[in-house]
Amino acid sequence: MPGPLEGRVAAVTGASSGIGEATARALSTAGASVALGARRADRLEAIAQSLDGPALVREVDVAEEEQARAFIQAAHDELGGLQILVNNAGVMLLGPVADADIEDWRRMIAVNLLGLLYCTHAALPLLGEGGGGDIVNVSSVAGRRADAGAAVYNMTKFGVHAFSEALRQEALHQDIRVTTVAPGFVETELQGHNTNPLVRQVMARSREQIGQVLDADDIAEAILHAVTRPPHVCVNEVVVRPTRQAR
Ligand code: NDP
Repeated sequence: MPGPLEGRVAAVTGASSGIGEATARALSTAGASVALGARRADRLEAIAQSLDGPALVREVDVAEEEQARAFIQAAHDELGGLQILVNNAGVMLLGPVADADIEDWRRMIAVNLLGLLYCTHAALPLLGEGGGGDIVNVSSVAGRRADAGAAVYNMTKFGVHAFSEALRQEALHQDIRVTTVAPGFVETELQGHNTNPLVRQVMARSREQIGQVLDADDIAEAILHAVTRPPHVCVNEVVVRPTRQAR
């Protein structure tokens, strides 16, 4: 029996690990042709080879406008259209504002905000020409609630929520649905990029308090649910936390 996404093309950014990898797998299993984008091309190749359906791999730094646009265009041209964009690539570099390495701020803003904007802008006309589709923006519970030690990450993810809601109101006229997905604590490589020992301690403590955190597949399922709704249903926002995560 054909899957619910048979005949559709999806582009997933940050598909080399974690939530992006799980989402690419879930969309592929549901029948979509999937374009996988990230900087680690070797990881993308290995993932693509393990998929049953058609896939395209592109080494892309979404913070570079030309690369981001070329990725979206390649997905469309080489896989035969574009119906789904999952803006998932992101980095989380935490720490107090006063002690910050300004380069970490630039990276978060460049990837979490500008990368998402470049890919979205490139995808909109392509989704429109095919009669509509889905844009899924991966935000965070940190995009709904700010906390000391996460100010700039909070700022980028609050930005994703705000942008997504405004875009939803604009894009609905072309039957383009916009969904914001806000995960709580998911076991991925994300936390490992933090070098600040205090931040690592706080994250380890929070993980311990939660107990069983989410798997990347838990979020991929939420994304799959959103993009497989009937055309008249738009899941605007999904928040998924581990049961024992309070905030
Ligand atoms: P991972 O670190 O496993 O995945 C991040 C992905 O983003 C990787 O595939 C990475 O690939 C890619 N990426 C990073 N920088 C760039 C770039 N400049 N250009 C292209 N791709 C890039 O973490 P997660 O799966 O957890 O993160 C995915 C999303 O989920 C992020 O937006 C994150 O903020 C969000 N999130 C995660 C939570 C969690 O607890 N894990 C909670 C809430 C939200 P590569 O390095 O190969 O480029």
